[in-house]
Amino acid sequence: MSDLQRPALCCCRKAPVEGGPSPCPERCQRVDVASASNFHSFRLRHFHLDLRLDFAAKEMSGRQVLELVPLQAGVQTLVLDAHPSLLVHSIDCTVPGAAGSPDRCLSLTYRLDPFTDYGSSLIISLPAAVVRPRRTLQITVRYTTTDGPAIWWLDAGLTSGQTSPLVFTQGHSVCNRSFFPCFDTPAVKSTYSATVHVPEGVTVLMSSSHSAYSEQDRAFQFSMEFPVPAYLVALVAGDLQPADIGPRSRVWAEPCILTSAVSKLGGSVERWLAVAEGLFGPYVWGRYDIVFLPPSFPVVAMENPCLTFIISSILESHEFLLIDVIHEIAHGWFGNAVTNATWEEMWLSEGLATYAQRRITTEAYGEAFTCLETMFRLDALHRQMRLLGDTNPMSKLQVKCEPGVNPSSLMNLFTYEKGFCFVSYLSHLCGDIQSFDSFLRSYIQQFQFCSVVAEDLLNLFLGFFPQLKEREGLDFDRWLNECGPPLYEPDLSAGAILTEPVQCLCELWGEEVPEPQAIASFDLSSWSTFQTVLFLDRLLDRSPLPQEVMTRLSCCYSALLDGMNAEVQIRWLQIVVRNRFYPDLPRVRSFLHKHTSRMYTVPLYEDLCAGVMKCFAAEVFSQTQARMHPNLRRTLQQILFQSSTPPSETPLPLLPVTSPAPAPTPTDMPSTGCISLRNVNVSA
Ligand SMILES: [Zn+2]
Repeated sequence: MSDLQRPALCCCRKAPVEGGPSPCPERCQRVDVASASNFHSFRLRHFHLDLRLDFAAKEMSGRQVLELVPLQAGVQTLVLDAHPSLLVHSIDCTVPGAAGSPDRCLSLTYRLDPFTDYGSSLIISLPAAVVRPRRTLQITVRYTTTDGPAIWWLDAGLTSGQTSPLVFTQGHSVCNRSFFPCFDTPAVKSTYSATVHVPEGVTVLMSSSHSAYSEQDRAFQFSMEFPVPAYLVALVAGDLQPADIGPRSRVWAEPCILTSAVSKLGGSVERWLAVAEGLFGPYVWGRYDIVFLPPSFPVVAMENPCLTFIISSILESHEFLLIDVIHEIAHGWFGNAVTNATWEEMWLSEGLATYAQRRITTEAYGEAFTCLETMFRLDALHRQMRLLGDTNPMSKLQVKCEPGVNPSSLMNLFTYEKGFCFVSYLSHLCGDIQSFDSFLRSYIQQFQFCSVVAEDLLNLFLGFFPQLKEREGLDFDRWLNECGPPLYEPDLSAGAILTEPVQCLCELWGEEVPEPQAIASFDLSSWSTFQTVLFLDRLLDRSPLPQEVMTRLSCCYSALLDGMNAEVQIRWLQIVVRNRFYPDLPRVRSFLHKHTSRMYTVPLYEDLCAGVMKCFAAEVFSQTQARMHPNLRRTLQQILFQSSTPPSETPLPLLPVTSPAPAPTPTDMPSTGCISLRNVNVSA
């Protein structure tokens, strides 16, 4: 069998033929240091969750049934990833009876051992009598979840409608071990099903291909017929209403924002899906639904299969909404159908999804728009590069995950944009973009529902374009393992019609105050959002600006920008803060009173606290913290008080400063701001 035939992948990525030898033993040695589980020893065929949601107690309780096939004779333990917040009540195993006899249920002994600060090891003893190679084991774990990092319970006051509570889960990267015991590694995929019991009036959605509701049992039934890694199992429950926006797409949202959501996305989603199918082959997941979540959602969007989760705060920023949804659609091929097998290669999902997203926007909105959006992001990449320095290991595409380190901390702008540049380089090497589209279709066909490493992609690439094997100077290893900026960036000159006016206006606003007539020839109100944010980001890069320039900028633009969307506003307000421009400080206050999402508060608080406005920040925080999710409140408290004691005139916060830190989420990591994911503004 050549490398290019569909491989019988080894157990670290996909089960080999049952009972057969591993086709590539060296791969079986690959470990996921972020997983305590012995996933190499089993094949997970399927699991079922049967849960009851208790909004008052903020608990989910019930059972999980795992169907496992031992891959080795004599395996005596099953080790699952779990979390100290999971209370395990009992574990048993169903043993099939001899012919004609009923199955037996055997109670198993287990213990929960510490593993890292983001999880535990659930070690289950397996009696020799129940383990037979190739015979399916059925293990039932009865448990209750408490306050783990995957599960976000929102009181009614934290929802958009403020009338009913809501709960959602966020699995990426390694949070779902606090939702259910699992092989919490992207190397393992399985189908799953679920039964979820809820109080009357609550709608439950999951990342599943089929769902049904039983009025009699007040239970929702879900089944995901395609294999997915644990981190892509997601649930949301609350006062959610549906509206169809296409033949296979539906928007779900709280009633008060449903109309707005439908008006922003109606008609577009099916068009984007059709463009994506034209480029990368069939959309395999059946449905593509979107659920809008309250501002407490800790990331902008998450590519949960069949059901993208997205923050409602992005609704007003139309172009960002468009990019974010298209990015999540692209994950239907890159990330969800074909997944990175290790957390060290998340660029395989994010870099390819970003490339695919830009292929879709090029087809749907033209090259100029796509080049503008790309320039905006690559600007952010270079900004981070300047902050980090050329030798910072964070800038590697393949980052080493050390034991104990939460893999979420490995994800940064390089994962997305350096990954995108590498994929663009591969496209550039093969000569024309359509041939590279064909290659990507072949990549999806070859590895659909598998987890892969970079080597799989690159071997397939060189097999698809054999003439490149002879080519000298292919720098794949440097791309993957060296620090520093991308070795190649795509030509963005096709965006000149949109980017040149921005560059010209930036040049006008140099060290001197420009002539009023010169400025007047640029009408920002006619610009697209991405033009405006590119302009503001470049001004932000040059801050602090001379005071007279800042005064004139405010005079020209402050009122205009204040009427624009939140993505524009926050950039202008960061300029205000970094330039200590007190006349516009009331705008900062009103923005922070309006927005309680992580993405629109953390960057401003970081800027306020890095400068001389910490007292102002503490005052605004004390006025608004009651409307924030406790996790965000703790993050902001850390920003406010991490390097000094609270100013004496500051009102005491509601929560003690010594509260335990929230479980890390992708947006928690960059407390310094220098690798802030808000610059990424796409999913985890
Ligand atoms: Zn993504």
